[in-house]
Amino acid sequence: MKLTFEKIVGQKKVKRLLEHILENNRLAHAYLFHGSPGTGKLAMASVFAQAILCENTKEKPCGTCKSCLLFSSGNHPNYHLVFPHPKAAKDTEIQGVLQTIKMNPYQLKLPWNNPQISIDSIREVRRNLGLKTFGHKSRVIVIIDAHKMTTEATNAVLKVLEEPPQETYFFLLSSDQDNLLPTIISRCQLIPFHDLTDDEILNGLMSSQHQSEAELRLVARMARGSMRRALHLLETGTGEIKEIGVELLRTAFKRYYEIAAYAVEIAANNERTQLKEILESLILWLRDAFLLENFPTEQADASLTNSDDQEKLQKFVSSFPNYEYRNAIKEIETGIRMLEKYVQPAVVLIILMRNLRKYAVRL
Ligand SMILES: [Zn+2]
Repeated sequence: MKLTFEKIVGQKKVKRLLEHILENNRLAHAYLFHGSPGTGKLAMASVFAQAILCENTKEKPCGTCKSCLLFSSGNHPNYHLVFPHPKAAKDTEIQGVLQTIKMNPYQLKLPWNNPQISIDSIREVRRNLGLKTFGHKSRVIVIIDAHKMTTEATNAVLKVLEEPPQETYFFLLSSDQDNLLPTIISRCQLIPFHDLTDDEILNGLMSSQHQSEAELRLVARMARGSMRRALHLLETGTGEIKEIGVELLRTAFKRYYEIAAYAVEIAANNERTQLKEILESLILWLRDAFLLENFPTEQADASLTNSDDQEKLQKFVSSFPNYEYRNAIKEIETGIRMLEKYVQPAVVLIILMRNLRKYAVRL
């Protein structure tokens, strides 16, 4: 029997493990998929759930049996998706989330501010568990962001897990295992998801996106292990982000009031997450400049992230020989950490730009 995982990026170990479990019919009642956001926990859980419910015996999920067709339509009566949402969530919002999951689980983004999984959501699952199952007897429940369950909800899930109904399988997904009760964790089989490598993300993007390989490579690097972040970057575009980063570097060599004005301007026009992306792209850009300065051109060319930006890079390298790239990159990393710690963005940028100019040894 073969499991069809083609839409899932990386995670070879997990794929092998799940295949083995299904082949030997050794399903546990509860699994905890844990790892950083965007590493494919939901994508994997969706495919595996469909495979468990599939009626075909050779290849799972086959995509053509009655169960698979129901699954693809998003209406499988034996499949339950639980995710955090406020009590007052609109039906259109809930449907929107379900639609995204169906289209591309890597793109899941909940439209609410810090929502939780309430006891009501778990009660609904328990009510469903009491009903007769459709056709094939297995049932699968996937709980997205399981660490967002309220205490009441957690206790209700614990109760089910203590005496799990036959052929009922729970998949708890979490990027924050520390906020799960140890009693829940101990009931689950743990399956770790590692951060994706740049190459895995690149391969995933190449199969579905039309941008040039150079651009996708840049996106893959900036995504830092998360397919979700990569898709987000593609949506917002990396070109503008990169340009702001390079402009920030250029402005760092201007007069103080110009530095301050530019810092205030981009801080006002960009959210913290965007500012972090800008700084990350600048790190990649400086890394390229470092490569160009220190390696023979041909060798450097092959490893450049910003290969379409050679002219600008070359100009920087010749204008600032012996620029202290390592220190500059460290400085930018500090800036990113300060943004994460909620220091005023404009202040972070002014300090950073003043320091970036320090590392240039003028001729
Ligand atoms: Zn099937």
